[in-house]
Amino acid sequence: QKCLDRIKKTKHLNAYITVTEELAARQAAAADERFRRGAPKGPLDGIPFAVKDNFCTENIETTCASNMLKGYRPPFSATVVQKLLDQGAVLLGKTNLDEFAMGSGSTDGAFGPVRNPWSYAAPYRDGSGAEPDSDWVITGGSSGGSAAAVASLSSFLALGSDTGGSTRNPAALCGLVSLKPTYGLLSRHGLIPLVNSMDVPGVMARSAQDVATALGVLQGRDVLDSTTVCPPVEHSDLLEDIDVSRLHVGIPKEYHAPGLSRETLAQWGRVADMLERAGARVETMSLPHTQYSIVCYHVLCCAEVASNMARFDGLQYGHRSAVDSSTDALYAATRLEGFNEVVRGRILSGNYFLLKRSYLRYFVKAQQVRRLIARDFAQVFRSGVHLLLTPTTLGHAPTHAHFIQEDNRTRSSQEDVFTQSVNMAGLPAVTVPTALSGRGLPIGLQLIGAALQDRRLLAVAGWLE
Ligand code: GLN
Repeated sequence: QKCLDRIKKTKHLNAYITVTEELAARQAAAADERFRRGAPKGPLDGIPFAVKDNFCTENIETTCASNMLKGYRPPFSATVVQKLLDQGAVLLGKTNLDEFAMGSGSTDGAFGPVRNPWSYAAPYRDGSGAEPDSDWVITGGSSGGSAAAVASLSSFLALGSDTGGSTRNPAALCGLVSLKPTYGLLSRHGLIPLVNSMDVPGVMARSAQDVATALGVLQGRDVLDSTTVCPPVEHSDLLEDIDVSRLHVGIPKEYHAPGLSRETLAQWGRVADMLERAGARVETMSLPHTQYSIVCYHVLCCAEVASNMARFDGLQYGHRSAVDSSTDALYAATRLEGFNEVVRGRILSGNYFLLKRSYLRYFVKAQQVRRLIARDFAQVFRSGVHLLLTPTTLGHAPTHAHFIQEDNRTRSSQEDVFTQSVNMAGLPAVTVPTALSGRGLPIGLQLIGAALQDRRLLAVAGWLE
């Protein structure tokens, strides 16, 4: 009830698209009953959670923040959602995002932008004298609604999706811990695809331990997603056995990217020193193909988007245009009315990259570069490095006014600079808040590990938080 009240009090954040109030009340009552009988189902029984609105939820509207899917009620729930429900967790609602998870600001959805709760926090306000309505800061994206929900204390846990950074980016800008799991560790069944070869469900919470608890429930093989893998042997309490003095930490020198804020750079150095003082071996290393990764991500993302979005033809799901003079006219009008400019732009670019005459030059070339990027990481981890320490974002959250000044494509790709190569390599990464900036906004750092080292990353995040 407190969470539902909190959702109402924080409505101005625009974090939720749908609030499942009645369902939540029913589930909570059932959980209460189990506790009274002394038979809770497990660590998540009765724990409220929120879900990004690009995960299917049975009979509950699932929009991807797009006019294309308004009113769509899927006949099934995504595996990760179902697993939480089966454990007794209480669904509060569906959270806001950039349309079809394409973006880095949560500013580009059909339901309007999400506001970062830190815009209203005392340190940000103190002395600034500005009006909250004119200089509020964004949550980052595309899972900004999920991040705002957890950061504003209306939810304890939230699911996001991470294709190029979409859970880590908003978690960092909202001061949360978030895991982008190893590709295949969590099922994608029921997550409406953006880039199938990079998408993963991501988990956000206010502590590394909470994320680890959720991971324990969510991970594992799923017959409905053939890319899932068996998780490594489970340790129930993650913080018990991390010995920082035995860690070998890499600092990739290519991540000193243009645009990195002075404060984030200083944080990065401070945390590296802190690890070193605790006995860890901290060394600078090289991931030489990093400079190509943004462009490579862009080509591969658009190509998969072009193929994925073909299913939205006005016939099977959601929106159907009234213009039906021919089948082609129906497709065109449906997509013009249903998709925003970002989505249409990517479909167009992707179809260009996949043309017979551009296929080898763009798509195949990008796949080859992707392999080199993955190999850079593999070589570093093979040399004995346990994890890489990097910034998550270039700086703290920008104001909405500032963010929307830049052209859409540039701003999205700049914000992904530290995050998307991890998706191309399928590796796990965690963002952890380490400080507040001078303006009182959170700064997060990212830990990247070898495949299936998700828990180790969370343990180190727990040590740092
Ligand atoms: N910002 C990236 C993009 O727009 C990442 C999106 C995501 O991870 N869903 O593609």
